[in-house]
Amino acid sequence: PKYVYEFAEGNKDLKDLLGGKGANLAEMTNLGLPVPPGFTITTEACRHYLVHRAMPPGLDAQIEEKLAALETTMGKRLGQPDDPLLVSVRSGAKFSMPGMMETVLNIGLNDESVRGLAAQSGNERFAWDSYRRLIQMFGKTVLGIDGELFEDAIDVLKAGKGVTDDLDLNADDLAGLVVTFKDIVCEATGAEFPADPREQMRLAIEAVFQSWNAPRAVLYRRQERIPGDLGTAVNVCSMVFGNLGMDSGTGVAFTRDPATGQQGVYGDYLQNAQGEDVVAGIRNTVPLSELERIDPKSYAELLDIMEKLETHYRDLCDIEFTIERGKLWMLQTRVGKRTAAAAFRIANQLVDQGLITLEEAVGRVTGEQLAQLMFPRFDEKADRDRLGRGMNASPGAAVGRAVFDSYTAIKWSRSGEQVILCRRETNPDDLEGMIAARGILTSRGGKTSHAAVVARGMGKTCVCGAEELDIDTKNRRMVAADGRVVEEGDVISIDGTSGEVFLGEVPVVASPVVRYFEGELDPASAEADELVRAVHRFMRYADAARRMDVRANADTPADAARARRMGAQGIGLCRTEHMFLGDRRPLVERLILADTDKEREESLAALLPLQREDFTGIFEAMDGLPVTVRLLDPPLHEFLPDITELSVRVAVAEARGEEHEGDLRLLQAVHRLHEQNPMLGLRGVRLGLVVPGLFTMQVRAIAEAAAERVKQGGRPRPEIMIPLVGTVQELEIIRDEAVRVVREVAAEHGVELDFPIGTMIELPRAALTAGQIAESAEFFSFGTNDLTQTTWGFSRDDVEASFFSNYLEKGVFGVSPFESLDVDGVGRLVRIAAEEGRATRPGLKLGVCGEHGGDPVSVHFFHEVGLDYVSCSPFRVPVARLEAGRAAA
Ligand code: ADP
Ligand code: MG
Ligand code: MG
Repeated sequence: PKYVYEFAEGNKDLKDLLGGKGANLAEMTNLGLPVPPGFTITTEACRHYLVHRAMPPGLDAQIEEKLAALETTMGKRLGQPDDPLLVSVRSGAKFSMPGMMETVLNIGLNDESVRGLAAQSGNERFAWDSYRRLIQMFGKTVLGIDGELFEDAIDVLKAGKGVTDDLDLNADDLAGLVVTFKDIVCEATGAEFPADPREQMRLAIEAVFQSWNAPRAVLYRRQERIPGDLGTAVNVCSMVFGNLGMDSGTGVAFTRDPATGQQGVYGDYLQNAQGEDVVAGIRNTVPLSELERIDPKSYAELLDIMEKLETHYRDLCDIEFTIERGKLWMLQTRVGKRTAAAAFRIANQLVDQGLITLEEAVGRVTGEQLAQLMFPRFDEKADRDRLGRGMNASPGAAVGRAVFDSYTAIKWSRSGEQVILCRRETNPDDLEGMIAARGILTSRGGKTSHAAVVARGMGKTCVCGAEELDIDTKNRRMVAADGRVVEEGDVISIDGTSGEVFLGEVPVVASPVVRYFEGELDPASAEADELVRAVHRFMRYADAARRMDVRANADTPADAARARRMGAQGIGLCRTEHMFLGDRRPLVERLILADTDKEREESLAALLPLQREDFTGIFEAMDGLPVTVRLLDPPLHEFLPDITELSVRVAVAEARGEEHEGDLRLLQAVHRLHEQNPMLGLRGVRLGLVVPGLFTMQVRAIAEAAAERVKQGGRPRPEIMIPLVGTVQELEIIRDEAVRVVREVAAEHGVELDFPIGTMIELPRAALTAGQIAESAEFFSFGTNDLTQTTWGFSRDDVEASFFSNYLEKGVFGVSPFESLDVDGVGRLVRIAAEEGRATRPGLKLGVCGEHGGDPVSVHFFHEVGLDYVSCSPFRVPVARLEAGRAAA
């Protein structure tokens, strides 16, 4: 196969093969933009390497051929002693993984060619600087030497000279550093630094392949749900130099502000610097707008290119560029990451500009982003004690205890503390700490720094580059400009939308997007900003496009009303268990303890009017819309007191000779009902069959509430749902009884009552015999939480806390099957049940009421298998509406 493509041979749609970086370098080349020539080695070659631990046959020859062509184009050979061609070897996977994998610059330098480079450029300092960078990067990434050894050597050199800036080191210093670095390499590896340019290139390519499986890359992919077997491409790109003097430099730019979506000039620039210097925060960058003063010609050209790219990609682009002695070079572009708010605003603006259609716009904003916009924010009216301000790198309002290292962040968050990770700057080693933290605060680096990029990707609040704060990680404290000190453990609040940092806890308020959904904020009013207008516009489109209804899981009239405001088209799951708690507990205890039919009937009769009231309120809130009521599901012992507590109480009473007859009976009942595996025990339909009158009472309460509502002129639409059915026989018995009760109530009240009776599908057997069950069920609702538990044999509460992190780490699954539906296993059961159920009963209504109903990826699956609705918590309803619309569009 063809493993190597010249830049001019590719295009932006070949990301699978050439990686994102390679595909976009190709696209820019073909757009006629100034890209240094080079070639890309495909991800296919990498996959071969990862599987076989060896380069694929033929690859070397193809690389040799493309390198020869590059040498001809450039008019010099790789590492040619008197005038060397230098190249970078750059990783670039399909999905961008910022800073996760390796890149080596200045390949081709050795003791001879460094002199050629010096002579050709007329700049000794530059040549030695480039050479020491090569040894440093190569040593760290290819040879696996601890990077600190090199950094320490630089620090020692600077300290000896009494200087602090890299730029204060002259050619001799840097030549000396090269000797030191080569010694470090020798000592660490027992071999000389490879002087042969071709060997350097080859080893670097191999190292890039290997970096795909570096631990931090693996962790990042898991976080971002990027498949682990894609592999990376490798770009070999002729070098251009930003470190040739003050007329050179390197920078990054965005065509729009990735935090807010505003159009303008956003980016950072650093004179006389190479490669990563900008993002590493080693020296302080200047805002991109300064480039207009420093180099007006390049600035104008850059703006021109940015506009070209945005029109071409029809989206926000981010860019890496280098200026070599006044000549602009493009080194990378991609459709840039952005915050949730920016995603909505940008898509909205691009529609207004006529660059994309409304359909495309809705395709570009996700339910996950919408969920982020619904997070609360700081109350502007509250008292705030401002410590300082940095850049608004990733929005949100985060409150937590200040910690100054990742380890503490992880440890404290495990013990339930909310923490803000405060660092001077972050690097990939901080990833786990960043995941554990509520928010991230750094004192250095711009909006393109590691902390900012990663936090945005995770949707985590981040303030970066807060230079007024002196973050002292060694002593675990930070000092504000006015001298106030925040010690480890002190509470701070950070506002990722404004960039402000506050001492203490600032109260938070609802986001305007939530106020819009709640109907408190009119999108046409002056108070509504562009974000709210964009949300409104996209929601209307999604609502019109979607095939599936969206219902909510709600157990109380208040929740039902809120769900309705959020756009719910009914209740997909109304649980009845909480109705058996609180001050009704004694009644329920009496029911459970009843020895005689009479006692049982008395307690049921006492519960009936209370249950009826529960339903009346909910039917009223959801008038005209379906309300699926699930009959009692959990095992009875959940309604009895804790066994240990009760035993103690009985023992104490006994010892004191006090009356304890009641408690004793209770304790006996608790023992009787105790189960090893309550999840698989006496619950759901099994309770209905075993405890006489229980389900009958519930059905009667539903029917009476409905009858009352009808008489008041309402339109109640209850649906009765039987949980945990495994076989059609169970359902038939309960169903016959329910039908009888409903008829009875209808006759008593002289109204017409007719509601569907259906079942949950939450056991594998139910899914596999759905064809039979559908004979007795008028609807199915997939209880995907239990179905996941029973399909995998996982007890959710136990496994999530115990070994799931281990499973995720080992990559057994990329995301918990309780969070996002396991499409292959659990999804297969859903598909079978949907098909076979509808074969028996065409038009059988199908819904889902597990947590997955509000998970974006799962919603797409439910759309695809043909469900009629998804049901989720009221707050996720807008998310599900948007995703159902995107799935159908
Ligand atoms: P990453 O994916 O981490 O951004 P890159 O491959 O883009 O890694 O390279 C790291 C840095 O080196 C970037 O700042 C990039 O612009 C710079 N760089 C890469 N190749 C070259 C080159 N041929 N000439 C000059 N700078 C380069
Ligand atoms: Mg890059
Ligand atoms: Mg269940």
